[in-house]
Amino acid sequence: MGPDPLPDGARQIGQTGRLRINGIVEESVVDGPGLRFVVFTQGCPHNCAGCHNPDTHRLGGGYVVETPDLLRQFRENPLLAGITFSGGEPFLQPAPLVWLAAQVRRLGKNVVTFTGFTYEKLADMSRERPEIGRLLDLSDILIDGPYLEDLRDLELQYRGSGNQRVLTLRDREDLRPGCRHFSYEDKYDCKNNHIHCAARADRV
Ligand code: SF4
Repeated sequence: MGPDPLPDGARQIGQTGRLRINGIVEESVVDGPGLRFVVFTQGCPHNCAGCHNPDTHRLGGGYVVETPDLLRQFRENPLLAGITFSGGEPFLQPAPLVWLAAQVRRLGKNVVTFTGFTYEKLADMSRERPEIGRLLDLSDILIDGPYLEDLRDLELQYRGSGNQRVLTLRDREDLRPGCRHFSYEDKYDCKNNHIHCAARADRV
């Protein structure tokens, strides 16, 4: 297992119930399937060249919100298909996002999570930080990998560069039917730059 790449400051901002964010978009149609409530988390260690959201990088930037307040806002719009965690790097603050994702899932809505880490790296990191694995479990779709300017592709759905992947982590008919079921710790099939897999049984 490689070193945990989370910077020290990241541990201080990942408290259950409170989340440091850069902002929200109450209705989006470009950050996952259907109409979505998007939370842009604050803090990112990846420093991708050409990043479109550089103001999300600073760990102490943005502002702190209570996750119950975000849930209240989410519940106000019955037309929403789900919530999207973007950034910034959502996996710097997995604990409050796990709480929020679990509440959204209880409402029958879905969860999309963007990350600059790869799925494999997160699965590895989850061995020491279980809340990372929990957020993977609760994410219906994970869009992973850093933005690589050399592989920039404006035609890709949800993604900015060709190395990034749309990983279906849940077998949900409203998202991507027909996926195989297995744990995120297992191996997976890769086809056409999409990985179809399913996390463990729902433990919410
Ligand atoms: S992971 Fe996203 S927010 Fe972070 S530097 Fe890369 S493109 Fe920017």
